[in-house]
Amino acid sequence: MPLGLYISIPFCRTKCSYCNFASDVFSKSAYENYVICVLEDIANSRQLAMDLGCTCDDTADSIYLGGGTPSILDASQLLRIFAAVRGQFAVTPDAEITVECAPGTITPSLIETLLQCGVNRVSLGVQSFVDQEAQSVGRLHKRSTVLEEIGRLREAGLANINIDLIAGLPHQTAESWAFSLSETIATGVPHVSVYMLEVDEDSRLGRELIAGGSRYHAHFVPDDDATADFYQLACQMLASAGIAQYEISNFARTAPHSQNGELQSNQSRHNLKYWTRQPYLGFGVDAHSMLAANHNQAVHQALRFATTDSLDAYMNRAPHTVTPVSAQAAIEESFFLGLRLNRGIDLERLRADFSPMFSQDAVATWESAIQPCVQDGLLERQGATLRLTARGRLLSNEVFARFLTEETKVGTGHVNPR
Ligand code: SF4
Repeated sequence: MPLGLYISIPFCRTKCSYCNFASDVFSKSAYENYVICVLEDIANSRQLAMDLGCTCDDTADSIYLGGGTPSILDASQLLRIFAAVRGQFAVTPDAEITVECAPGTITPSLIETLLQCGVNRVSLGVQSFVDQEAQSVGRLHKRSTVLEEIGRLREAGLANINIDLIAGLPHQTAESWAFSLSETIATGVPHVSVYMLEVDEDSRLGRELIAGGSRYHAHFVPDDDATADFYQLACQMLASAGIAQYEISNFARTAPHSQNGELQSNQSRHNLKYWTRQPYLGFGVDAHSMLAANHNQAVHQALRFATTDSLDAYMNRAPHTVTPVSAQAAIEESFFLGLRLNRGIDLERLRADFSPMFSQDAVATWESAIQPCVQDGLLERQGATLRLTARGRLLSNEVFARFLTEETKVGTGHVNPR
């Protein structure tokens, strides 16, 4: 099965106050040494897979350069990364090749480099079309810049664009959020991601909110109920505009040339790999991989391995953390990753795939988790399909927790790299 390849570029021009990713502001001199480490890892990846006893396809049908801000690298660094990937993997002609770009960095020369690299999809970290909101969290762009750059990308033939938005930013109101959504819809981009502001100890704004302080505009952050309302408004407005939700945070326009009612071609192929447990390899700092284990290691379904989230440790070549995925962990993942998708999961398929490994009906044992969620209106069952309800999507973490056993709660926290 072709691989998805993820390459992490952890450098940013400024650190956004809400950001809990392993990214930061570093001097430009660090970029080159980092790129050299990434190139080395790409070159060694097939050997690493072999050493770990994994099956590793030599083709890739999706490449995702994320971060961080990959567009911060210079042309030669980007070109060398893509050349290294193509040197190790046969990239399919229809591969989805995405680069995350910070608005305000999309110059004509960057676009030229992206085209030379074979990039055919750009993900823009817009977060808000209201300048005050974007500036309050440290974003450097204005609404007008985003619109100008989308036009520039389209003129160059890069029309497959994703816009990221965040519900719950400081100063956001129902009206301003509706404005950001309207502006997003008006751009005509085929894909939108909507995240709710995460409040945790890993971001400056999160820590301030937990402490009850007012730095970083924390006292202008809408409360949880308002943020949940914003999320629901996004689902409604995007659906009305023909941008259908297909995953908790992801929405795609119906493709003009769909077949058999399967309207998927604007959905992110790369992210679908994470949610459907297809193999992927990650490179760079805080990058995650999952490959099938060789048949002679049948005790494990797959292996997950990850690099450190410390740039220093990564550059000093810290070893990967390796987590074997047992059959038990694999079926749990199939539930809580598959349920992220609006199409849900096919219980008959799960039963057929997993029952031989447990010498019993692999799905029946989960009825004690499924039934209460159905009764609580969090899950709905239609024939063999099990999916989240609209309410279940809002409370998805609560649902997913019911599909984790104590045995596997440790070690599955990073199944969705980005
Ligand atoms: S949100 Fe994106 S641009 Fe902002 S600091 Fe984090 S990775 Fe960098």
